[in-house]
Amino acid sequence: MQILISSEQIQQRVRAMAYEIHRDHPDGVHLIAVLKGAFVFLSDLARAMPGRCSLDFMAVSSYGTSTNSSGQVQLLKDLESTLEGRDVVIVEDIVDTGLTLNYMQKILRARSPRHLRTACLLSKPSRRQVDVKIDYIGFEIEDRFVVGYGLDYAEEYRNLPYIAVLDGPAESRAG
Ligand code: 5GP
Repeated sequence: MQILISSEQIQQRVRAMAYEIHRDHPDGVHLIAVLKGAFVFLSDLARAMPGRCSLDFMAVSSYGTSTNSSGQVQLLKDLESTLEGRDVVIVEDIVDTGLTLNYMQKILRARSPRHLRTACLLSKPSRRQVDVKIDYIGFEIEDRFVVGYGLDYAEEYRNLPYIAVLDGPAESRAG
């Protein structure tokens, strides 16, 4: 396993993202984390947020193999809060094909927030299948399967404080 982004690099970037989000939402922000992968990012982001902030959680599942998504998304857990008229930021661990985020943005936009923006820790632009707007990106990475800082492989490695590459280039992956 090779460390791609160190814990120190992540902490520094997440703090900067929290300030950027606060600057764009001086009156406060409602953060919506996508479980399970975003729980570590959310926790650091929320604690670094200078202003008012409230939280809620959604869970979705993207079908596919453990390292490749098929693009079908299912809502497993809905929000407990209403979004109408609120400043909402979706907090995602990683945007790969963009299909999960595209689905999230579509269903949340239909709930009439005042603003709907998206923060993701990692983005793999070369893998995009749909053109989704991301307002705050932690790091752009190449097409490698990564784990740690909330991201898993078969439910393991979420506890690593850094981002690591688990396997070789995507060409060698099945599916
Ligand atoms: P999408 O392809 O819809 O943008 O991403 C779907 C989901 O696949 C992400 O939310 C994430 O859970 C998972 N995923 C995509 N790339 C990776 C990766 O490199 N590592 C891990 N652990 N999960 C990933």
